[in-house]
Amino acid sequence: MSEQANSSTNQNLRTPIVAVLGHVDHGKTSLLDKIRGSTVIEGEAGAITQHIGATAVPLDVVSQVAGGLVDPTEFDLPGLLFIDTPGHHSFTTLRARGGALADIAILVVDVNDGFQPQTEEAIRILKETGTPFVVAANKIDTVPGWNPQEDAPVQQTYEAQSDRVRQSLDEELYRIIGNLSDEGFSSDLYWRVQDFRANIGVIPVSAKTGEGVPDLLTVLMGLAQRYMKEDMEINLAGPGAGTVLEVKEEQGYGTTIDVILYDGTIRPGDTVVVGGGNDTIVTEVRALLKPKALAEMRAEKRFEQVDELRAASGVKIAAPDLDDAMAGAPVRVVGDRDVDDVIEEVEAELASAQVETEEEG
Ligand code: GDP
Repeated sequence: MSEQANSSTNQNLRTPIVAVLGHVDHGKTSLLDKIRGSTVIEGEAGAITQHIGATAVPLDVVSQVAGGLVDPTEFDLPGLLFIDTPGHHSFTTLRARGGALADIAILVVDVNDGFQPQTEEAIRILKETGTPFVVAANKIDTVPGWNPQEDAPVQQTYEAQSDRVRQSLDEELYRIIGNLSDEGFSSDLYWRVQDFRANIGVIPVSAKTGEGVPDLLTVLMGLAQRYMKEDMEINLAGPGAGTVLEVKEEQGYGTTIDVILYDGTIRPGDTVVVGGGNDTIVTEVRALLKPKALAEMRAEKRFEQVDELRAASGVKIAAPDLDDAMAGAPVRVVGDRDVDDVIEEVEAELASAQVETEEEG
C-alpha cells in the first residue's frame, strides 16, 4: 500500500500536514485541484494517494513536478499531505494536542485583489497558532498581456513575459510584501529568502495554468525538511492519534468519522477514545476505510478496507457508537495504556480547545 511505502522511507518521520487559507475566491480550491491534477498527470498511476479528506503527494512526485528544483536524495521526509478542505473554519477546528493540526499553511492571495478581510483574519490565526506559512500570490495569469506557460516554474515563466508584464506583476507582488510588513511579517520573493523562519516566502502562482506550482511544492518541501524535521519525528509504530474532520453517515457502515491521523498506527479491532458532544466515546474500530484507487472508482463500493494505517494519513473509521462524535475532537488508540488515562487526555484536550474557541468568539 502506498501510504505504507510512503512512511517506510523512514520509520520515524511522518509527512508534514499542509493547510490552505485565504480570502474567498482567491483560489484556494483551484490551487488544491491543480496540485492534485498536476501530480496525477506527472506521476505514475497511483503515485499520489487520495486519502479521506486529504491528498498525499509523495516525495518522488514532488520531485517530478518540481523538475530540477528538488533533489529527492536531499530529503528524508516522505512527502506532503494536503488537507482537502481549505479555509479558516477547518483550520481552527482541526487541532492537535492544543495546537493547529496543520504543520504548514499556504496563504493564498489574489494578486489583483490583494489583502482582504479574510486574508487579515488568516494572518491573525496563523500568528496565534504560530504556524509557519508561505504566501501563494495567485492568478498571475490575469496580469494584462500575460503569456501563459503551462505548469512551468516561476523563473521560466518570468523569462517568457515582456518587461511591461513583469513590471506589473512585480508591483502587485511588492504590494503584498508591503501588506505583510504592515502585519509585522518580514517577507520577500521566495528566491531571495535565505531563512524561511525569519522571512515569509512569496511565491507567484497560477492555479489555472499551474505556473509556479513546482516552486510552491519545492518551497513547502524544503521548509518542512529544513525546519520541521524534529516535529515530524514520531513513533510510527505507537498508538494512533488523530483529529476528527467530519462525522458522516455511510450506507452499510452507520455513523463513521473521517480522521486525520498525525501520530502512530491504527488497526481494526483497536480500542479508541473519541471526543463527543456529551460524553467521551470509547469504542472499537470495526473497519478502516480508504477511497478506492482512481482506476477502480467505477466499482460499486466507494471504499476499500485496510488492515493498518500509519501517520500521517486521512481515513474513515467505522465503529459503533459514533453518533455523538464531533468535528475537531481528538481520537486516540488506547494500545497498552490504561483506558481511563486516555479518556482523561482526550477530555483535557477538548476542554482546552473549547476555552480557546470561547475566547475567540
Ligand atoms: P476559493 O474560494 O478561494 O476556494 O476560490 P476558488 O478556487 O473557488 O476560485 C475562485 C474563482 O477564481 C474561480 O472562478 C476560479 O476559476 C478562479 N481562479 C482561481 N485561481 C485562478 C488563477 O490562478 N487564475 C485565474 N484566471 N482564475 C483563477
